[in-house]
Amino acid sequence: MSNLIFSDSFINGEFYKTDTRFSVDDPATEKSIVNVSDIDEQGVNKAITAAQGAFSKLKATNATERSETLMRWYELVIKHKQTLAELMTKEQGKPLKESLGEIDYGAGFIKWYAEEAKRSYGDVIPATDNNHRLTSFKQPIGVVAGITPWNFPVAMVTRKVAPAYAAGCSFILKPSEHTPLCAIALAYLADQAGFVKGAFNVLVSQNAKKVGEMLTDSEVVRKFTFTGSTGVGKQLLSQCASTIKRTSMELGGNAPFIIFDNADINDAIDGLMAAKFRNSGQACVAANRIFIQRNVLNEVLEKITPKIAALKVANGFEEGVDIGPLIYPKAKEKVQQLIQDALNKGATLIGDQRDLGGSFQNPVIITNVTTHMDIYHQEVFGPVLTVIPFDNEAEVLALSNDVPYGLAAYFYSQNIKQIHRVSEALEFGMIGINEGVISNPVAPFGGVKQSGLGREGGHQGLNEYLEEKYVCIRI
Ligand code: ADP
Repeated sequence: MSNLIFSDSFINGEFYKTDTRFSVDDPATEKSIVNVSDIDEQGVNKAITAAQGAFSKLKATNATERSETLMRWYELVIKHKQTLAELMTKEQGKPLKESLGEIDYGAGFIKWYAEEAKRSYGDVIPATDNNHRLTSFKQPIGVVAGITPWNFPVAMVTRKVAPAYAAGCSFILKPSEHTPLCAIALAYLADQAGFVKGAFNVLVSQNAKKVGEMLTDSEVVRKFTFTGSTGVGKQLLSQCASTIKRTSMELGGNAPFIIFDNADINDAIDGLMAAKFRNSGQACVAANRIFIQRNVLNEVLEKITPKIAALKVANGFEEGVDIGPLIYPKAKEKVQQLIQDALNKGATLIGDQRDLGGSFQNPVIITNVTTHMDIYHQEVFGPVLTVIPFDNEAEVLALSNDVPYGLAAYFYSQNIKQIHRVSEALEFGMIGINEGVISNPVAPFGGVKQSGLGREGGHQGLNEYLEEKYVCIRI
């Protein structure tokens, strides 16, 4: 189909239709794009069986074949870049230029793992006596199930499915009910690229809990990978305990973004604009708590205020748009509650709080934020710059680390000693120094503390789908 809009789950290389349907809505217009099939129990079981069968067939493939198949998938995604980007803006709302960027970023994972497929080396271990030879090698874990969120509907899928296929695992994906269309299109293109039938199944469902339970309860599923909120991640992790599945969890963050007084302020502002307002602030690595050293606070605020006022908030398809709608009206309600709570507790608002209607949220700055405000502790997931002044390095390090999360952190400094000290002291899995956009298919993405388990991207991302087998031979 030329617009790549499909309305059913995809199992064993075929569309799977059900009579119960639900609407996928465009967050900008709040109109329905299409009614999609809601998967039934039979469909989930069919996908598990298909993935099991595909895993047996994948065992007969080699790394070079899988690499070539992934490369064909990559080429198809790039060939359909414009169509996929338009589909993403329609179902997710982000500006078209950002959707185009996400297709490149998401396709980047496919290309990277097409290359890494050929590099899952084992070890030859020096023996401890003359009568033994010791080696270890890597094998695919088996059937993988994954659940993905709505904020990056392509990249969150490819960064899981591509390394799984590279390793020789089959995959059952339940994408977010808000953005299933990109996921189905990706599975369709993977099939066209020659994926083993049943190696990439997509289950579209409005009942995430039920599908999640079936997948986590299954003995056939050997690995579970999730990207989403910490609360749901904890629940799924406990569900995986009964069958001791390998797990990867990419959960929530509460990223500090620190501007020290010796920073290049103009660079810091550019980095902050990118780290805060990309995807309307709806990213787990979005700058959430902006710490600004007190003696440069006024300068930063004076320079950033007009830039924020100039951001164009509109339908992602409009020319020159910077900020699309939030994913649904409830998301906007939550952002407004956080703003209100902060203002009630003494924070100051800079910016236009006029209601733009629908799920559109004006970008604003809130200064004088303190630790007793909800906005300090929660992921804002909206275009709100939350500013906390600080006086010295020790104070800002203590504040930055004093949260249960540890995904991304950013800081701007031109002092080399401070750069080393601070990057070592921040308890986060990823650090951006004088840079506000750090995600990259070639680098390990992931968090510490309650931000998750495991890494996606880089050579590390392939290991998440591999078991290590030790072989001891007596000679
Ligand atoms: P967000 O707030 O970003 O939507 P969620 O963690 O609620 O984050 O959702 C991420 C993904 O998890 C989505 O695909 C959603 O359908 C799924 N999900 C939500 N609740 C559950 C659950 N109880 N069990 C399994 N999956 C769930």
